[in-house]
Amino acid sequence: MATAETRVHVAEFKNEPFVDFSRPENKRSMEAALKKVEAEIGREYPMYIGGEKVITTAKMTSTNPSHPKQMIGVFQTATAEHADQAVEASAKAFETWKRVPAERRVEIAFRAAEIIRERKFEISALICAEVGKSWIEADADTAETIDFLEFYGREMLRFAGQHPVTPQMGEKNYLIYIPLGVGVVIPPWNFPAAIAAGMTVASLVTGNTVILKPSEESPTVAAKVVEILYEAGIPRQALNFLTGAGEIVGDALVKHPKTRFIAFTGSKEVGLLISEAAGKKTPGQIWIKRAVLEMGGKDATIVDEEADIDAAVEGVAAAAFGYQGQKCSACSRAIVSEKIYDTFVEKLVDRAKKITVGPSEDPGNYMGPVVSSMAMEGILGYIDVGKKEGKVVLGGERAPGDGYFIQPTIIANVSPKARVAQEEIFGPVLAVIKARDFDHALEIANDTEFGLTGAVYSRNPEKIEKAEEAFHVGNLYLNRKCTGAMVGAHPFGGFNMSGTDSKTGGKDYLLHFLQAKSIAEKVSN
Ligand code: NAP
Repeated sequence: MATAETRVHVAEFKNEPFVDFSRPENKRSMEAALKKVEAEIGREYPMYIGGEKVITTAKMTSTNPSHPKQMIGVFQTATAEHADQAVEASAKAFETWKRVPAERRVEIAFRAAEIIRERKFEISALICAEVGKSWIEADADTAETIDFLEFYGREMLRFAGQHPVTPQMGEKNYLIYIPLGVGVVIPPWNFPAAIAAGMTVASLVTGNTVILKPSEESPTVAAKVVEILYEAGIPRQALNFLTGAGEIVGDALVKHPKTRFIAFTGSKEVGLLISEAAGKKTPGQIWIKRAVLEMGGKDATIVDEEADIDAAVEGVAAAAFGYQGQKCSACSRAIVSEKIYDTFVEKLVDRAKKITVGPSEDPGNYMGPVVSSMAMEGILGYIDVGKKEGKVVLGGERAPGDGYFIQPTIIANVSPKARVAQEEIFGPVLAVIKARDFDHALEIANDTEFGLTGAVYSRNPEKIEKAEEAFHVGNLYLNRKCTGAMVGAHPFGGFNMSGTDSKTGGKDYLLHFLQAKSIAEKVSN
C-alpha cells in the first residue's frame, strides 16, 4: 500500500544546528536583528478571525522585561464574542482544510521552517526582547521551532494514507487517520516561538483548524509565527489568531461546544481548570473534547556520592539558572548524598557566583530578567519563604538594573517537604536537599505531585539502573542536565500533575490530533 511517506521523498529528520555566536558574522547578524526589532517597537498587530483582520477599541501591550518601559507590541483585546466568532469560523473552514491533501499541508509546514531558517536572527532577537532570553536560549527556541515544523511534517506523512490491518478473508480492510475538528491552542510565554508553533502546526498539519490564543506576555512572537505560517501558505481561515486575557477569551474558547480539542501548555493551575471545563458537556456539544495538557514541574537532580561532582555542578547550575529557571524542565531541587553534600554545595556556590545577570540583549549576561513584575514578586515571595525554610547560601535578592532581575539563588538545608521543595517557583531558585543514601534520594525525588524531568549523576551502573526503573518522570536524564530536550531525540512530557504526557517532538504526538477510522469492505471471492 503506497503511503504519503513513500510517495513523498524527504530527507531524514535532523535537528537544526545552533548558531555559534563566537563567530563574528553571527554576532553581527544578531546585533543587526536586535536593531531591527527596536525599529519595529510599538507596532500594532491585528487579530485574525475567519481570514479577516480584527481591531478592537481596547488594547493591551507587551513590554521588554529587561527594560520594562520599552513597549514591544500593541495588541487587540478579544472578548468572549470574538471567541465565539472564531470557533464558528474555524468550524466552517474545517470542512475545506480537512480535504487538503496531507502532502500539501506538509509542504506548507516545510516552507514555514524554511522561512524561519532565513529569518532566524530576527525571530531570536524578538524572543530576546519580548521574554528576556539570552542569545543562546533564544536561538535554541528558534531552532526548536524549526525542528517541530520539520518533525511533524515528516510524521504527518507517516500517518497519511491507508494503513494495513490484519487481513480478513472476504474483506478489504484498512485504517486511516482523520483530523478531529476545531482546535484551541493555548501556549505559555516561556517558549514563545517553539511551543506556540509546535502545538499550532501539529494541529494544522493533521488537518484540523486552529484558534491560537497566545500568552499575554508573548503575543508579538506568536504574531510573527502566525505571519510566517500565512506566508508559507496556511489559509487565514484555517488559523485564527486571538489576543486577550486567558481567563476570558481562553476560557470561552475552551468551553465552546464546537471546540473539539484543546492543546495547552502552561501551569498546573490553569491546566486543571481546562481539564475540568473540557470534561463538561455544554449544550449542543456532540463529542468528548480532547485535552492535551502539558503542565509544570518540580524537577530534581540527584547527585550521588559516586558522581563526577564537577560534572554534576555544571549540570545543576545550567539547569537551575539557564533562562532564569523559567523552564518547565528546570532543576529546582538538587538532592545530594550527605557524604558529598558540603563539597557539592561549596562547588555549586562558587560556580553560580560566576553567573552574570543583566539585560538579555547583552550577550555577556548569562541570565536575563524574569518575565514580568508579577513573576518577580512571586519569586521574591518564595525566596522569603526559603529564607525561613533553609539557609540562603547564594543570592536571595533582586539584581541591579531597571529590569526584572533576580540573583541566582541557592537555598541549602531544605527539608524535602518544605514549600520551596514542593511548589513550582519558576525562577532562578534552587533548593538543595540532603539524602542519606541513593534510595532515600529517589524517595525524595518522587515525593512531589509532579513528574516532568529528572537527572541522576552517578558512576555506579547499579544505581543508574535503579533510577531508570524507579525515578518516576516523563524525561529522565543520566549523567547530564535535565533541561535541553531535543525534538526527535527526547520526546517530551511529564507524569502526574505535570500533564498528560503527550510527548511533544515524539512519534506518538500527532495521534493526539487525529482519530483512527477503520474501514472494512466485503468483497466477492
Ligand atoms: P499559565 O499562566 O498557565 O498560562 C498559560 C496559558 O494559559 C496562557 O496563554 C494564558 O493566557 C492561558 N490562560 C490563563 N488562564 C486561562 C483560562 N482560565 N482558560 C484558558 N486559558 C488560560 O502559564 P505560563 O505562566 O504562561 O507558563 C508557565 C508554566 O508553563 C509553568 O508552570 C511551566 O512549568 C509550564 N510549562 C510546561 C511545559 C511542559 O511541556 N510541560 C512547557 C513550558 C511551560 P494569559 O497569558 O492571557 O493569562
